[in-house]
Amino acid sequence: MAKESYDDAIAGLSKLLSEKADLEGVAAAKIKQITAELESASLKQFDPVDRIKTGFIHFKTEKFEKNPDLYGALAKGQSPKFLVFACSDSRVCPSHILNFQPGEAFSVRNIANMVPPFDQTKYSGVGAAIEYAVLHLKVENIVVIGHSCCGGIKGLMSIPDDGTTSSDFIEHWVKICAPAKTKVKSEFSDLSFSEQCTNCEKEAVNVSLGNLLTYPFVREGLVRKTLALKGAHYDFVNGTFELWDLDFKISPSLSSA
Ligand SMILES: [Zn+2]
Repeated sequence: MAKESYDDAIAGLSKLLSEKADLEGVAAAKIKQITAELESASLKQFDPVDRIKTGFIHFKTEKFEKNPDLYGALAKGQSPKFLVFACSDSRVCPSHILNFQPGEAFSVRNIANMVPPFDQTKYSGVGAAIEYAVLHLKVENIVVIGHSCCGGIKGLMSIPDDGTTSSDFIEHWVKICAPAKTKVKSEFSDLSFSEQCTNCEKEAVNVSLGNLLTYPFVREGLVRKTLALKGAHYDFVNGTFELWDLDFKISPSLSSA
């Protein structure tokens, strides 16, 4: 309930109490109790420290302490099969939607789940993650997961044709997948903006898969068949998940519908 609603309710009850001095004792006591409850509810503020503590206690008692074998093994090292690129969006956590357990997926999350091309000065953070996952952890799969209603992709699709930008970082970053925008604008010009964005969410994944090929150690892994690249799109509106290989063949949807 909005704070105004609490304030209105409290004001209304207080007025009633003052005006109806002859109210039965029980009724008056009840109204006082409701007033106190409303006041305490309206004062209840979100406590980030409490939320973090509660979350960790839940994890420790329900997972960490109940799976000593798993966490004991993970204490010695990790050997994930996947390197996952996912959006920073709070609704698309790969561990949550794909049920990855600790140790299963080495992850990079950024705006619109983009893989920039090999560049040792501009994108070294992403490059370091790919290098570590492929050369040291020897992951067998790299999966780039796009998603529905992606704000980063909407931002990319909204950049004016003259290329002018108004943000310090966001637009410059999402331009990594500008070829996807160009393709969608030319091939799907008859679709609505929202439908174009959905198509761009998937095309941007393909651009990222292409960019992965600019990393020599990724190319080498593909040639030796120790590494596979996959694209994916998670639709959290309809609850579906599409998965495709580097050759862009789309598999049947993994939804239960
Ligand atoms: Zn997103």
